[in-house]
Amino acid sequence: MYGLEDERWIKNCSQLKYSEKKVVLTFDDGPSRNLIKILDILNEKNVRAIFFWQAKLLHKERPWKRVFDEGHLIGSHAYSHKNLAKLNKEHQYKQIKYSIDKIEEITNSKVQYFRPPFGQYNEDTIVILKDLDLLPVMWEITSFDWENKNTAETIVDNVVEHIIDGSVILLHELKQTVEILPQLIDGIRAKGFEFTLL
Ligand SMILES: [Zn+2]
Repeated sequence: MYGLEDERWIKNCSQLKYSEKKVVLTFDDGPSRNLIKILDILNEKNVRAIFFWQAKLLHKERPWKRVFDEGHLIGSHAYSHKNLAKLNKEHQYKQIKYSIDKIEEITNSKVQYFRPPFGQYNEDTIVILKDLDLLPVMWEITSFDWENKNTAETIVDNVVEHIIDGSVILLHELKQTVEILPQLIDGIRAKGFEFTLL
């Protein structure tokens, strides 16, 4: 089992340096067909976000350049969304290393951040992340957007009612998330929060 020190490391990596009235939007599981719409909304609302991509879904034709040009960050969400805590160290290494290699090869830019699929990891994951110089990014606020396909309004409440200083907010590149994104951004700002990156 990983120790307290590892827990502290993960928490520190995931925390905002200057967190007063600031939050971070993160979008997992892309790049998906909803990416363009998400970028359009973020651009219109002048918000920067972090995208944690499954490297398997990334191809040269995806609008990764636009993501960078508009000031967002791309992190890794492993290669094919396996639960790392259920894999041996060698397989975990492949899931993480292949994902980094592919993203870096296509985008020609260094990957700094990693979010484990399902938020699951173990001591081997930590050793690998440190070895590859990657910072894990967990989250404080779960939007449950994947559970609210037909009740998109709920996603806004799940986030806005719970945000506190320094929250990292978990969203996904989903249709229902696109639907409520403008409202979500407005709701967060109405509570006096602004958006930042790590
Ligand atoms: Zn995921």
